[in-house]
Amino acid sequence: MQAHIQKKKRNSPAPKYIFITGGVMSGLGKGVTSASLAKLLMLAGFTVICAKIDPYLNVDAGTMNPVTHGEVFVTDDGGEMDMDLGTYERFLDKGLSQEHNITTGQIYSAVIKAERKGKYLGDCVQIIPHITDEIIKRIRNLHESVRPDIVLVELGGTVGDIEGLPFLEAFRQIKFEDGDNQSLFVHVTLIPQIGDVGEQKTKPTQHSVQELRRIGIQPDIIIARSETEVTESVKKKISLFTNVDWRNVISNPDVESIYNVPEVLGNQGIVQRVTQILELRKSTIRWGSWPTISSSFVNATKELRIGMVGKYVSLADSYVSVNHALAHASAYLGYRIKLELLDAEKFESEPKLLDTLSNYNGIVVPGGFGLRAAEGIIRVANHARIKRIPFLGLCFGFQLAVISFARNVCGLREANSTELDAAVKHPVVDLMPDQKGIDKLGATMNLGGHNINIVEKTFAYSMYGKKKIRQRHRHRYEINSNYWDILRSKGLILSGFSEDGKKVEIIELDNHAFYLATQYHPEFLSRPGKPEPSFLAFVKSSISNAGSRDA
Ligand code: GLN
Repeated sequence: MQAHIQKKKRNSPAPKYIFITGGVMSGLGKGVTSASLAKLLMLAGFTVICAKIDPYLNVDAGTMNPVTHGEVFVTDDGGEMDMDLGTYERFLDKGLSQEHNITTGQIYSAVIKAERKGKYLGDCVQIIPHITDEIIKRIRNLHESVRPDIVLVELGGTVGDIEGLPFLEAFRQIKFEDGDNQSLFVHVTLIPQIGDVGEQKTKPTQHSVQELRRIGIQPDIIIARSETEVTESVKKKISLFTNVDWRNVISNPDVESIYNVPEVLGNQGIVQRVTQILELRKSTIRWGSWPTISSSFVNATKELRIGMVGKYVSLADSYVSVNHALAHASAYLGYRIKLELLDAEKFESEPKLLDTLSNYNGIVVPGGFGLRAAEGIIRVANHARIKRIPFLGLCFGFQLAVISFARNVCGLREANSTELDAAVKHPVVDLMPDQKGIDKLGATMNLGGHNINIVEKTFAYSMYGKKKIRQRHRHRYEINSNYWDILRSKGLILSGFSEDGKKVEIIELDNHAFYLATQYHPEFLSRPGKPEPSFLAFVKSSISNAGSRDA
């Protein structure tokens, strides 16, 4: 064991770590809280790297069902990540990459692979030290390449989960190895409010902190999520039971927009608390344009009704980046979005429902996989085309819009995607050539950022204002080039292509308020205060659509 400890001694100065854990229950907004803290530290002039740990056994989020786990967020380097990584990118306006999402699956695969190679020859391979060493190595690597002031690591799940234990143990070891004032623990917990008066109860927090302390972690800061502001007397009670200075108990009440959270935390002096504990230089937050951006989400009074027609509508988080991209664009234009999730499958069994689409100022069809509900989406895409309702199709939405055009405008009644009908007569959407023969599902799609050439004099060109853009992808199928000519001859404008010219990336129609669809996922690039151009253009035309109808 002694040799093991010595092996880990480091020559370079140890970085400052912030470890964020969650207590009581999931769904408290730990991701938003962590991203807000990172944002504040950046506004205070520190360089920060963020990582999210997901203690599940999947290697990445790519094979998980969005309805149970939420959207799969795609990074530029092709990582299929937990949706919290999207929260970090949106708050920090910084691209992340695969190493910023660590899972149990990755850790165990690496250790087992090394064991088979004989790396631990003679050893009995164990959770401590082998698994914890691998975790520590990955956390330390985050720092080695970039050398930021602070590395902020958020652990998914809740303290007490079996899967989380090796990670907590690794955090404890890092703090022990690095010594005082090098690591800081933040515990995000729930203060439930019950009864008519909404009494704030601290017991669940007491238990959650006890659990942390049992495994050797004493939190330095507690962020208390609650409906209303946590009172001073409740903070003092939490302090008494948890051994945390009451001024380090930070209230994080419900707010109208998640983009208000940095101000809520910042105004309670969280940055001063962090810099004091970690002995970082004194620093003040330079808010810049952030308050203007965050207030645009709250101050918008005019309402815009958007219908999102998808397969995974039972969980709003399935499309979380699309939801945010729409909100960014509308807040930017002074509007508040009223987004309704519409189950695409219903448009198959109840064709009359199509008429209700005119109640929306615009229709979005997001990504998806597989046959269920596809016919419903094809009908919706056709209806939006005929009725001139602003329409934005994303990935699956793009492919199905092209199929609807092929069937209804080009007369190819039997057009389809080979994803939905392997023996189709007109495979207008077909498997990409480089996908043929792939039998593994994990991380094998066309993933991540690719450059796109935009055709001049198209709507897409006026929207982006340039000939080259870079966008993120996650798909196996594409528009079959054998059908480009017939689609074009009937008026479909192919306005963006992959750099090699072999894949259609954007389609659009003229003589329509707005009918545009993309093979890529523009939603991953939208930021508060910096909406992605296709969402901005879609929301703009939805606003004019609303105006023309009201008139
Ligand atoms: N299922 C389609 C494909 O694989 C679309 C994927 C998506 O919408 N992300 O190409």
